Amino acid sequence: MKSLFAWIVRLMSVPSDSPELLKAQSRAFSQQVPMMYATLLTSTWAVAITHFAYTPVSIAIGIPILMTVACGLRMIDWWRTRQRELTPESARQSLQRTNLVAPILSVVFVVWTMMMFPYGNDYDRAHLAFFLAITIIGCFFCLTHLRSAAISVAVIVNSGFIAFFASTGQPTLIASAVTIALVSVAMLIMLTINYRDFTRMVDAQVRTEALSNENFRLANLDSLTSLPNRRAFFTRLDEDLKRAAQQRTRLAVGIIDLDSFKPINDLYGHAVGDKLLIEVGHRLSILCPEKMHLSRLGGDEFALIISEAEDDCTLLEHGDMLCQTLRVPIAFAEATVQIAASVGFAVYPEMAATPEQLFERADYALYHGKRTNRGSAILFSADHDAEIRRDARIEQALQMADLNAELDVVFQPIVDIRQHKTIGFEALARWTSPTLGRVSPDLFIPVAERNGIIGCVTRPLLQKALAAASLWPEEIRLAFNLSPQNLTSSESALAMATIIERSGFDAKRLDLEITETAITHDFGQIQRATEMLRVLGCGISLDDFGTGYSSLSHLHGLPLTKIKVDRSFVTNLHHRPASYKIVKSLLALSRDMGLDCVIEGVETKEEMAALRNLGCIMIQGFYYSPPMAEMEIMTYLEMPIT
Ligand code: C2E
Ligand code: CA
Ligand code: CA
Repeated sequence: MKSLFAWIVRLMSVPSDSPELLKAQSRAFSQQVPMMYATLLTSTWAVAITHFAYTPVSIAIGIPILMTVACGLRMIDWWRTRQRELTPESARQSLQRTNLVAPILSVVFVVWTMMMFPYGNDYDRAHLAFFLAITIIGCFFCLTHLRSAAISVAVIVNSGFIAFFASTGQPTLIASAVTIALVSVAMLIMLTINYRDFTRMVDAQVRTEALSNENFRLANLDSLTSLPNRRAFFTRLDEDLKRAAQQRTRLAVGIIDLDSFKPINDLYGHAVGDKLLIEVGHRLSILCPEKMHLSRLGGDEFALIISEAEDDCTLLEHGDMLCQTLRVPIAFAEATVQIAASVGFAVYPEMAATPEQLFERADYALYHGKRTNRGSAILFSADHDAEIRRDARIEQALQMADLNAELDVVFQPIVDIRQHKTIGFEALARWTSPTLGRVSPDLFIPVAERNGIIGCVTRPLLQKALAAASLWPEEIRLAFNLSPQNLTSSESALAMATIIERSGFDAKRLDLEITETAITHDFGQIQRATEMLRVLGCGISLDDFGTGYSSLSHLHGLPLTKIKVDRSFVTNLHHRPASYKIVKSLLALSRDMGLDCVIEGVETKEEMAALRNLGCIMIQGFYYSPPMAEMEIMTYLEMPIT
């Protein structure tokens, strides 16, 4: 009994468990409302006018006026509800009002029809029966999306109708009442089916929408760190930049790159690498207030969008704080690791106008920062802009250059200070462009590397260096610089090997120098290429040693014969205990690994004295000689070395 009662209550009330169903019901019903009241009032007034002549005015006209006012008020309510934003709560309230008003109006209509029945002739009575039957069918259809109201209207009107016509004893009217009752039952069944289909459809729509929302969320989320991903970053950057342009505010983009992620990943494995990235994401998000939007671009790169960016100083302070936080060691079960990070910033509107420019320039600042001031924040500046323009000019001139004619090599001696003898020369590239004049290799080599034309630059240089060295005494070696790109494909490595073989110069007298940063490119390929060159007889030197972040396990994997300690550790080493210690440990390391060690960039007597103290043997630098032209070499070799 109790459950039957509960079932009836549920059947007759507005469903409240699905907010989307409520909104869909309200929307669907709202479209039928004008039609429903129009049908109702038109047929009411048709009855009122036809009965007006012989029915008391209070019944024929008075009640329809009241009903018209009531329907009018309902229409006003409908209009107001439509103007407001549709929420589940407003939908529920409006449906509940309809649920309440529908039975009341039904009772009024039935009672009014019955009050008119004693007046008029048989036609008029038939009109009343027709009016009631057809109006209820019309209203019923208009109420299909609100099952409870449709049922209450059907039950009230039909019960009144059947009871009243049955009581007249008129067989025609009783037959009509029975027909209407049967039609009503059929309609109730149809209503139940339609309503069920409707709720299922809404349900399916809700599920599809939830699924597509989830897909959208996943497509914009980085699965490892749960931060927004690259796609989300660019979408957000577009939106925020438009807003900044409208509101005339500053907007900064920061790109954060971990300096030593790759070696940690290689050394401890991907599981530690993943945990490290999660921790980095976590630390960064703690330091990013609401106006900073943090995302992971991929790999070990993260990005920030800072709306309403403060002045440059505050921005850089914040960037430095991020770097500092990332430097705090992280303890995992497997190992405690420490990383460093650099941040590059670019600011709208001063230094960039479009999302692409903001991103590229923040990226440029980052990589510039990594070269000059690792582990800190750097802002894209007017100097960087000038550099970009200069590199573009260099690139253009390089593309048009007759490289064979314009490139040349100079040679800097490498001296054995124990034997007081020059043991070799390092070939250094020189470019004299007809449009730009002399361009330093520090400038044009990186441009050629970035633009994929380094092969065309290296080939003539290597040929010229080998041709010059072929004329030197047998015991003098040649050192030649290779770019990573000269080795990162087997074709380019083979091209180098072919030039060496064809030159007739003994490969055993040749040292090929690769920088430490080169091995971070594609270690496997660099390893294969250097092994192939080693088989030819060439020595392999690790250039600029100490400036990169390669792990020792990497160095073991390469067939190295020499290391060259970078100039930055040598300058004033007698005044800088840290540099002194580094050079000392690099010397010990090279001895342990059975490698020769060349100290580069030695300029002064004091540096020389300190290096002698440390037991250095091979020295290269202005102290002995700057790079010289090929034709000066013979004269130089004849001079004694002190
Ligand atoms: P690097 O291989 O480290 O070459 C040494 C650089 O230090 C040379 O600069 C040399 O002139 C300079 N240097 C030598 N001793 C001293 C010194 O005592 N004090 C100072 N301040 N500098 C000294 P350079 O010729 O301007 O070359 C710069 C860089 O360009 C080279 O650095 C190398 O990385 C690159 N490079 C030069 N030639 C080539 C080449 O043929 N191929 C490739 N891939 N890179 C090259
Ligand atoms: Ca070098
Ligand atoms: Ca070097």
